[in-house]
Amino acid sequence: MYDYLIVGGGSAGCVLANRLSTDPNVKVCLIEAGPADKHPAIHFPFGVLWMMKSKALNWNYNTEPEKNLNNRKLFWPRGKTLGGSSSSNAMIYMRGHEKDYDHWSALGNKGWSFKEILPYFKKGQHQERGSDEFHGTNGPLNVQDIEVRNPLCSAFVDAGVQAGLKENKDFNGAQQEGVGFYQVTQKLGRRWSSAMAYLRPAEPRKNLTIISDAHVCHVDFNDSENPKRATGVTYRAKGFTTSASAQREVILCGGALNSPQLLMLSGIGEKQELEKHGLQVKHELNGVGKNLQDHLDIMLIYKCTKAVSYGITFRNLVTHPLYNLYEHFVKHRGYLSSNGTESGGFFKSDPSQDIPDMQYHFCCLKMRDHTRDWKFLLGEGYSLHVCDLRPKSRGKISLNSSNPMDHARIDANYLSDPQDMEKMIKGVKAGLELLGQPALDQYRGKRLVPSYELNDDEDIRQFIHEAAETIYHPVGTCKMGNDDMAVVNDRLQVHGIEGLRVVDASIMPTLIGGNTNAPTMAIAEKAADMILEDAFSSKLAETNLLSRNKSEDVVAV
Ligand SMILES: Cc1cc2nc3c(=O)[nH]c(=O)nc-3n(C[C@H](O)[C@H](O)[C@H](O)COP(=O)(O)OP(=O)(O)OC[C@H]3O[C@@H](n4cnc5c(N)ncnc54)[C@H](O)[C@@H]3O)c2cc1C
Repeated sequence: MYDYLIVGGGSAGCVLANRLSTDPNVKVCLIEAGPADKHPAIHFPFGVLWMMKSKALNWNYNTEPEKNLNNRKLFWPRGKTLGGSSSSNAMIYMRGHEKDYDHWSALGNKGWSFKEILPYFKKGQHQERGSDEFHGTNGPLNVQDIEVRNPLCSAFVDAGVQAGLKENKDFNGAQQEGVGFYQVTQKLGRRWSSAMAYLRPAEPRKNLTIISDAHVCHVDFNDSENPKRATGVTYRAKGFTTSASAQREVILCGGALNSPQLLMLSGIGEKQELEKHGLQVKHELNGVGKNLQDHLDIMLIYKCTKAVSYGITFRNLVTHPLYNLYEHFVKHRGYLSSNGTESGGFFKSDPSQDIPDMQYHFCCLKMRDHTRDWKFLLGEGYSLHVCDLRPKSRGKISLNSSNPMDHARIDANYLSDPQDMEKMIKGVKAGLELLGQPALDQYRGKRLVPSYELNDDEDIRQFIHEAAETIYHPVGTCKMGNDDMAVVNDRLQVHGIEGLRVVDASIMPTLIGGNTNAPTMAIAEKAADMILEDAFSSKLAETNLLSRNKSEDVVAV
């Protein structure tokens, strides 16, 4: 019996495990489907390439055939270990645009404007550059300038300036627009996942239990007086099925794919969908799994004419390995400390846009199929990702079966809104213009992807259909709000159910304009405060009731 059960030890789950167990009188249990985060590839940043291929530390999802992407099934990696996707992501520290949060607030979500969430970004952060209006220095999440600056990435920044963008030294400061080097969630050149930042310091606490390699199958409802109160979870570990109970709350932090799946497996969702899989309806909630949004991305890939990139080359693998190990372990820099995507930027697809609506990620290697195509990594090259930050298309997560061990079904439904394609076309044109600038002349080799000429919009459209991929930011499938399709309210409590919250990327009502890890961790910081506030209020109410009953007893006597 615990006070709080947290399902999923990812970006959000680790934050909650730490914050809720601060009080030694509160018993917290964190249950994670994947193993502990011991594998060395998690911790040295360049290991991100290895994580893409891991069978044990990655959920390795695939979408259904995407009808607007030539019926391709897109690969969707997600972290499956302590730290979740923060243990396998590219470590870019980004918050999105302040207007994204003001939009959430304008949708009716009290407490979620940028002004109100900024303190949670700052609370979680240790900004190595020091504190200011936008940054904090007392939090567990270390944020540093990337230690390694590949000359190709510097040339990208110069090319961006030549193409008319400003150089931006802080994308999380007053202005988001421009090109520059990203800051990363690293410490001394090593990955600083939510597990490293929040779980390690909390691990020795006696009131925190961490169970890894345990797959939660569904939420339990065992209160005969209140059948709509979550009382615990059932999980599978080491071949056994067992359960754990929560006196106060069950908190789902399984991420944008698994949290809606878990709700459906627990009988919460659209009636038709549940009945199709023989699941008993506990509570009808039509929005579960709907409203799926993701950043669709397109990559332009070139050969590089100089020996500077991070491709698989004789220099990188044979001549320099000892030097690279020394650089990484002693100097905390060198390419093993690189996330491969050191620079990038934000720009407007059209000058009429109020705020940047597209993002660049520049990689100093040529990569195909999320780096799983090892042969393509051979030799020198570079790649530019371009993504649409606020797509209008909406997809959904549903069930493949009622078996909790089956993957959820992903219909991303990319480009179903025609405006999204128009934006991607503008993005490709802007990317080509940037890559053609003089700053990259000394490195530019043959363009490999696309290998054909892009003469007009029709060619670009064909290229996008053929080659667009995810840049790993699915959100929105348990959206926060008060409309018919909302799954949680603005305190992240599941509508119509007691003792159950969802706290992860799935609660975002709309996708933010940037990478999603830091926003998810700030959501969890805010959720922890709300959970503790609610516990305090209900204790206060109990105490008041008790003292009122006592005084009524006295009157009765
Ligand atoms: C390859 C990749 C690169 C990325 N790069 C960046 C980047 O550079 N910067 C950035 O800001 N964002 C990046 N992101 C996105 C970012 O990491 C995610 O948005 C964020 O981690 C989501 O956090 P979450 O808590 O919602 O889910 P997760 O961190 O994925 O956590 C969910 C956890 O729940 C566990 N779980 C799921 N189901 C169950 C179950 N049934 N029982 C028990 N446990 C369960 C999972 O194993 C996982 O540990 C990237 C993501 C990926 C995959």
